[in-house]
Amino acid sequence: MICAHYFHDISHGGAPLSYKIHHLNCATLCPQGSKIITGKGTLFENALLSCHCLLIESNDGLILVDTGFGIQDMHSIERMGVGAARALNPKQLPEETAVRQLESRGFKREDVRHIVLTHLDVDHAGGIADFPNAQIHLLEAEHSAATKPQSLQEKFRYQRAMWSHNPLWQLHKPEGETWFGFDSVRMLENSLHDILLIPLLGHSRGHCGVAVASEEGWLLHCGDAYFHKGEMNLSKPKGTLGTSLIQAMDDTNRKQRISNQRRLRELKRSQGNSNAGITLFCSHDHDEFDECVSCKPRHLITRTQ
Ligand SMILES: [Zn+2]
Repeated sequence: MICAHYFHDISHGGAPLSYKIHHLNCATLCPQGSKIITGKGTLFENALLSCHCLLIESNDGLILVDTGFGIQDMHSIERMGVGAARALNPKQLPEETAVRQLESRGFKREDVRHIVLTHLDVDHAGGIADFPNAQIHLLEAEHSAATKPQSLQEKFRYQRAMWSHNPLWQLHKPEGETWFGFDSVRMLENSLHDILLIPLLGHSRGHCGVAVASEEGWLLHCGDAYFHKGEMNLSKPKGTLGTSLIQAMDDTNRKQRISNQRRLRELKRSQGNSNAGITLFCSHDHDEFDECVSCKPRHLITRTQ
């Protein structure tokens, strides 16, 4: 298991490697019908959904997990596609983009060396153009779905404008590593060996979670493997009508997505309170985002490489 490797194989006599992990909301989505989407408010209010991303400070450069929307999307919502813009109704706030948020922390866009993507939907990859020098890591199957669509759904869900700047793709195949029973893990290159792609297929052809080692265990960014925290409730898993409909419309493979949700609940049941202490969260549940922000100081790791 990689978790054991990680926690025990921490000293090779090299330079200290430290991680500091920030939770960023890189766009606020306000679709209509708060009551049916979040279960809160009324039908006539707009929901508030996050685009939950991670900014990881390491002394090997900055790493982003997902980007949310980018600067160009904030100035012209046509870039994300009219259908997505209407359905997601993102706030047009450039200050919410990843690039502006890291600049406000004193970094430059050139400091971002790697971006790890859960998938290539516009609300997750819109910001990659703001970091043209970063290596973009994702599953090869997702890249293929976006660039060589095999169905009308794939043809219309992705926006080529997101990668018209010719990004530095780093495409990965599952290679049989295991991580807490998830048997298809691609460990990234040496400097990123504590950041893992966890294939959670179903939402899209190459959708992944991203596991990140932190001081008190692992964070698992589940992307769009689920939409509402109620779906991860262990005694009575249940999302909202709105999130169920959104997922049904977005699914590439519903059976796979539901099966992976079940496996994620099992992971939470078996490891959520263990020493490994895996913390799961998805991209769009704003309550989960707020919970992660409030425990941010825990997500700091300093170790020797
Ligand atoms: Zn999404």
